[in-house]
Amino acid sequence: SVPFDVEQVRADFPILSRQVHGKPLVYLDNAATSQTPRQVIDVFSDYYSRYNANIHRGLHTLADEATVAYEDTRETVRAFLNAEHRRQIIFTRGTTEAINLVANSWGRANLKPGDEVLISMLEHHSNIVPWQLLAAELGLVIKVIPVDERGVLDISAYQALLTERTRLVAVNHVSNALGTINPVREMAAMAHAHGALILVDGAQATPHQIVDVREIDADFYAFSGHKVYGPTGVGVLYGKLELLEAMPPWQGGGEMIQTVSFDVPTTFAAVPHKFEAGTPPIAEVIALGAALRWVESIGLFAIGAWEQQLLQHATRAVSDIEGLRIIGTAPHKAGVLSFVVEGAHPQDIGLLIDQLGVAIRTGNHCAQPLLAQFGVEATCRASFAAYNTLEEVDVFAAALTRVVNMVR
Ligand code: PMP
Repeated sequence: SVPFDVEQVRADFPILSRQVHGKPLVYLDNAATSQTPRQVIDVFSDYYSRYNANIHRGLHTLADEATVAYEDTRETVRAFLNAEHRRQIIFTRGTTEAINLVANSWGRANLKPGDEVLISMLEHHSNIVPWQLLAAELGLVIKVIPVDERGVLDISAYQALLTERTRLVAVNHVSNALGTINPVREMAAMAHAHGALILVDGAQATPHQIVDVREIDADFYAFSGHKVYGPTGVGVLYGKLELLEAMPPWQGGGEMIQTVSFDVPTTFAAVPHKFEAGTPPIAEVIALGAALRWVESIGLFAIGAWEQQLLQHATRAVSDIEGLRIIGTAPHKAGVLSFVVEGAHPQDIGLLIDQLGVAIRTGNHCAQPLLAQFGVEATCRASFAAYNTLEEVDVFAAALTRVVNMVR
């Protein structure tokens, strides 16, 4: 096993010392949102105490300092994803907005009636609904890559679904509902062999593994700040430069223009600013930079290995509970344990286990089609982060046993 100083990691997170219903908080809802280290929280107070100003247009000192810090994060994100140019990094409100940007800008400019968009059964609603909206408007055909009983994508079915009409494959790197890690590099090569592009939803991958967009050969890659120890309200879209440069703006406003006129056509700023209309979430972007530096100070390899230990420990610990069924048993899984228990409704489990200080998620995890395939409407999901401990997993398993005995 890998040596990992989890107590030192925990010391960075003030929230972990709070109590819930008189019990120490055991936070296992990290796939929904991760907690933020002090290094990230401090950015907000520093920004608003010292250099709060609008970026890019001011000539004064505060505006300059804010602009430098904002643009520095672009470089931090570039390095985090191993992108070639910082111009390929567009700040959005989150993964959802990044996907909507691609659908509305690239999609509208490039897709025609009858064109096919391939998504997977594992997708989060945010990588389903934007394509459904666009399909209804443009007459596109959406096809779905199936999953097997373990929650693994059927790659030979994927191969068979790729045709000369396929224009885009939109797939997550890691499933939020089951934890399945998808072979996105192979899937990208297969898409490209058919002349299709690939958009990878990396919301659940960036917190757990090193991501290299060039190695994957992703055309677009999206993630959210709040799942990678950063703040809410900020996310990233990476895109290949030639694609981004050819794409029309999506939202119009200040910052994204070169010249505006009523007499001749308005012209637009170069990427990435063409896609960052209006005042962005400046403090959040700067805090995202701090979050990624924090992650890198621990190391994603070490974090991922630690989370695998937590996952294995949890999987063993709950296996004694009678009637418990784990949903999602892929051989390559991130730290997500989704399950149902016979005779116990997930919602009851979630509410009662909260009384014991344990935070898990219950529901459909924004993946209704996927859960329907497993014959359930909801699951309980425990998901792990760098600061979780083996003892917390034991507390969770004991609490779950107690709760299950109470409700059945
Ligand atoms: N994709 C996946 C795989 C996710 O887990 C999530 C968040 N649950 C999203 C997309 C959407 O991210 P956000 O709500 O931050 O835009």
